[in-house]
Amino acid sequence: MSHYDVIVIGLGGMGSAAAYRLARRGQRVLGIDRFAPVHNLGSSHGGSRITRQAYFEDPAYVPLLLRAHELWDGVERDSGRKVFTRCGGIMLGGPESRTVAGSLASARKWELPHELLDAAEIRRRFPTMNPDDHEIALYEENAGFVVPESSVAAHLQLAARAGAELHHQEEVLSWRETSTGVRVGTSRNFYTAGRLVICPGAWAPELLAELGIVFTVERQVQYWFAPSGGAEPFRAGRHPIYVWEGANGRQFYGFPSHDDAGSVKVAFFRGGRTCTPETIDRTVHSEEVDEISAFVRRKMPALPGTFLRGATCMYTNTPDEHFVISRHPAHERVVVACGFSGHGFKFVPVVGEILADLVVDGTTGHPIALFDPARFTGVPR
Ligand SMILES: Cc1cc2nc3c(=O)[nH]c(=O)nc-3n(C[C@H](O)[C@H](O)[C@H](O)COP(=O)(O)OP(=O)(O)OC[C@H]3O[C@@H](n4cnc5c(N)ncnc54)[C@H](O)[C@@H]3O)c2cc1C
Repeated sequence: MSHYDVIVIGLGGMGSAAAYRLARRGQRVLGIDRFAPVHNLGSSHGGSRITRQAYFEDPAYVPLLLRAHELWDGVERDSGRKVFTRCGGIMLGGPESRTVAGSLASARKWELPHELLDAAEIRRRFPTMNPDDHEIALYEENAGFVVPESSVAAHLQLAARAGAELHHQEEVLSWRETSTGVRVGTSRNFYTAGRLVICPGAWAPELLAELGIVFTVERQVQYWFAPSGGAEPFRAGRHPIYVWEGANGRQFYGFPSHDDAGSVKVAFFRGGRTCTPETIDRTVHSEEVDEISAFVRRKMPALPGTFLRGATCMYTNTPDEHFVISRHPAHERVVVACGFSGHGFKFVPVVGEILADLVVDGTTGHPIALFDPARFTGVPR
C-alpha cells in the first residue's frame, strides 16, 4: 500500500488548486479523481466564470478575492496558460437590489475602485444593454472572467511539476481516519496518508454525509447565442461581464464574446431543478432556450439572436449559500472544501492556498470564519 503526506480527493476546480499548493509546499501528494482531467461532468466547465471583487454576497469575501486576483497572475505566469481576462464588470438592477446595494456596500467597506452609472450612462458606455430608467449599475474595472478548464489544466500541470502524483478515472469508494493517519479505498487500490483533503463538488452529499449539512445539488444551464448584428459589440473590451437583477429578484449574468465563433454566453443565476450527479438531465430543452431568450431580450435586445448550444452544470448549495472550508469537525486529519453554492470558481487559487495552510500549519491567516460548518450543526470544532 502506497503512503503519502496528503491525499486530495477530487481534482476539479478546488482540488486541482489544493494539490498544487500542497505539492509546492513540499508535501508528498496523491490526487485522485473519478473522471478524466478537465472533464465536463461536475461544476468546472463551460468556458467562463465571472470574477469580481465588490462582492454583493458578503463583504467578508473581499480579502479572499484580492488575494485570488494576485494568485491568478502567478498561475498564468508559472503555467504559461491564459486563465484570467480582466474586461471590467457591472452589477445592474434597482438601487435597492441586492446585486447593486450589496456590491456597493462591499466596494465602500474595502475602498475598492468603482463607479456608479445611471441608466443613460450604462446605455452610452455599453450600447448592448438597455436598462430601465430607474436601474443603475456598479462598474468595477478589476472584474472579468476566468476559464475554468484552463484553470484546472494549469493547476494539474503545476501540481505534477511540483511532484504530485495524480490519478484519474479512479473512484474513491471509502475513506476513514485511523490512529496514525487516513486510509482511502478506491476502485483500484488502497492508500494511506497523514492527512486528507476532500473537494468533492456535487458529490459532497455522499462523500461528506457525516458533516450533517443539507446540500442541495442544483441543475444549471449555460447558453451560447450568436447575437443578431454580429458579435463585435459584445467583444471583451467593449462589453463587460455582468450580473443583472430583475424586478422580481431573478438574476441573470453573462460574458463578453471571447471565442473565434463569436458566441456570447448567458445564464440564469439559480432557480434550477434539484438533482444529483446521477439523475441530472443533461439535455437542454427548447422551452428553456425560449425562456432565457425572452428574458434577456428585454434587457439586451440583440443578444438572443441565434441559439448555438447549451450545456448543463451543477451548483452544490449550502442552506445559506456560503461555502464550507474547514477542518472536518469529527476528524482531526481531514480538511474539507465544499458547498460552493454556484459562486466558488473566482476563489479557486486562494481556496487552494487555504487548504494547504490548514493541512501544513493546522490553521490559516485567511479569514474563513464565515465558512465554518459549525454554523449548521452547532458542533464546535
Ligand atoms: C453553470 C455554472 C456557472 C457558474 N458560474 C460561476 C461564476 O461565474 N463565477 C464563480 O465564481 N463561480 C461560478 N460557478 C461555481 C463554480 O464553478 C464552482 O463553485 C466550482 O467549479 C466548484 O469546484 P469544485 O472543485 O467544488 O467542484 P468540481 O470542479 O466539480 O470538482 C469536484 C471533483 O470531485 C471529483 N469526485 C467527486 N467524487 C469523487 C469520488 N468518489 N472519487 C474521485 N473523485 C471524485 C469529481 O469528479 C470532480 O472532478 C458556476 C457553476 C456552474 C455550474
